[in-house]
Amino acid sequence: RVVYVNGDFVREKEAKVSVFDRGFLFGDGVYEVCSVLDGKLIDKDAHLARLGRSLESLKMNCPASLEDITSIQRELIAKNGIVEGTIYLQVTRGVADRDFNFPNSVTPSLVIFTQKKNLLNDPIAGKGISVITLPDIRWRRRDIKTVMLLPASLAKQEALERGAGDAWLVEDGYVTEGSANNAYIVTMGGVIVTRQLTHSILHGITRKAVLKLAEQDGYEVEERAFTPGEACEAAEAFITSASSFVTPVVKINDRVLCNGIPGPVTSKLRRLYIEMARAEAE
Ligand code: PMP
Repeated sequence: RVVYVNGDFVREKEAKVSVFDRGFLFGDGVYEVCSVLDGKLIDKDAHLARLGRSLESLKMNCPASLEDITSIQRELIAKNGIVEGTIYLQVTRGVADRDFNFPNSVTPSLVIFTQKKNLLNDPIAGKGISVITLPDIRWRRRDIKTVMLLPASLAKQEALERGAGDAWLVEDGYVTEGSANNAYIVTMGGVIVTRQLTHSILHGITRKAVLKLAEQDGYEVEERAFTPGEACEAAEAFITSASSFVTPVVKINDRVLCNGIPGPVTSKLRRLYIEMARAEAE
């Protein structure tokens, strides 16, 4: 596999970053994951816009123009022959002698790599996943997409060790989001509920697209917090992310939803999302 590091396309074994990179020492960096279908990028402008917001929130500069980033992504997709998968992009503040305050003049580091993945016929999406609820121990600016992912990693690991597919994180009695995805329920009355956009959750690119499709299709959408208790009484539940699209949740803690199979609303939204993504990928 070929990866991109600070201006060069190199084989992954030859790719190097400094031990003094602030991404490595402080988690001082931001990232984006964009999915690739038919060799084309899905929702690239929205991902780049969010990258800009994350960088601005951390007073970090972008090491390349957004057009250059897109060209690098396209070149890497071609070099690695990615038809279906994801492309990961990371910007860190750069390399400096270790000190907590920001270094004065530093060049940000840019790393981009691809991952092959079955997105359309993902067997997990066909069956649905189970989730457990766990305390949300992350920081309070989850709207900034930083590489400080240890709390999310711990949650996912605990979920897998306990036989679940993922964790839904809970703060002050309400679900915030999944370890790496936004969380939704469909009430018995057919209303789609997902948490409102604040600093408490990542503003998912897939979330925005799916809510738009849902409203266009006539579903009622409520952007508000819900409790694990309400989720357990729901008709359906699902998650969204760039790499999982719309994925059904068929069990929450010990409660089986929808007889343990993906529900009709979830299945329809997944189909609508894939149709739109394929049509608009570029
Ligand atoms: N929330 C969190 C915490 C995430 O890590 C992700 C995936 N990056 C999402 C939500 C979903 O965001 P998107 O649809 O932009 O992938």
